[in-house]
Amino acid sequence: MSGTLAGNKISELYAESGHERVVLCSDPEVDYRGIIAVHSTALGPAVGGTRFWNYASDEEASLDALRLSRGMTYKNALAGLPFGGGKSVIIGDNRVGGEARERLFRAHGRFVESFGGLYITAEDVGTRPADMEYVRAETRHVAGLTGKSGDPSPVTAHGVLRAMQAAAKHRWGSEDLSGRVVAVQGCGSTGYYLARELHERGARLVVTDVDGERVRRVVEELGASSVAPEEIFGAEADIFAPCALGGVINDETLRRLRAGVVTGSANNQLREERHGDALEELGVTYAPDYVANAGGIINGCRELLGWTAGQAAAKAHAIYDTTLNVLQLAAEAGIPAHRMADRLAESRLSAAKAEGGDDAP
Ligand code: NAD
Repeated sequence: MSGTLAGNKISELYAESGHERVVLCSDPEVDYRGIIAVHSTALGPAVGGTRFWNYASDEEASLDALRLSRGMTYKNALAGLPFGGGKSVIIGDNRVGGEARERLFRAHGRFVESFGGLYITAEDVGTRPADMEYVRAETRHVAGLTGKSGDPSPVTAHGVLRAMQAAAKHRWGSEDLSGRVVAVQGCGSTGYYLARELHERGARLVVTDVDGERVRRVVEELGASSVAPEEIFGAEADIFAPCALGGVINDETLRRLRAGVVTGSANNQLREERHGDALEELGVTYAPDYVANAGGIINGCRELLGWTAGQAAAKAHAIYDTTLNVLQLAAEAGIPAHRMADRLAESRLSAAKAEGGDDAP
């Protein structure tokens, strides 16, 4: 377990993050380097996918693992799931194939196994079900396997739609999205399914993607109009739906944002917490990202907890109630919605800790 990731700055990051356990992993024989971060197991085993990415620096990889794993704790807590939060990253070029790819994921699987079930992994950006089969050869603490719970994106997209309907209800007094203009950033797995759901409900779509093929599909199938990637923030729209990258709500984009509601599938939409405060100051209704996009982990409960597809769908549908509750309580308390979401998640965590983890599975 080791040491290529070093330096004071990184150890300070770990010391301040409040994580239960962070392991820097390395297996030089197979050219594998990774980080496994377990933020909390107060509500149950820490669940969160493996991201495979060519990070610019070890510090960037560490920050990603720490932030994403903490985010999973909050997402699972607020969705009422019996899981804690964890995340892992593999550092490198995710286009690697063949036996080298198998060796990497088997090495990762051995490190996952070393957590003895405290951490359960799955797919994430840069990984796919076949990779999880390699992980499975070394540990049973893995989900997202081929032919199990399947592609989570339609369920995630439905949850985002429900969060959007709740935000509309909170802001405009009606959840009806017909005639509303929705600017969708990213026409990938979740963005595409979200666009379909919105189209079925009579919303008008303005979309973008850096991949022209993906834009074309939504334009041709759903009659969307398209803009260049940089123009999506300033698009004339009622709702902005970030479905591509994190950090898209920042000083620069806030100046251009025209929409009154922000709800999307992307993780970590706020570049910094203060950007959520700025949304509130601008009078924008923000459905916190981890509340809106919990459909992915909810879909994973088919594999992790043996839920039926119907149970998962019903739970994703209920994201409407969770979102509306967060928005209403935030308004009553006079604080931004992302801070209220954190507060609610933290109170569930504190209650679990006070009970000595009695509600963990
Ligand atoms: P995806 O890779 O299928 O789609 C992302 C799309 O964004 C791609 O088509 C990509 O070309 C596009 N894109 C990248 N950079 C862009 C830019 N600068 N401008 C416009 N488009 C850009 O990914 P996805 O599964 O749809 O996930 C999208 C986001 O939602 C990610 O942040 C992911 O972590 C989050 N998320 C996904 C799920 C899920 O079930 N798939 C669940 C929870 C959260």
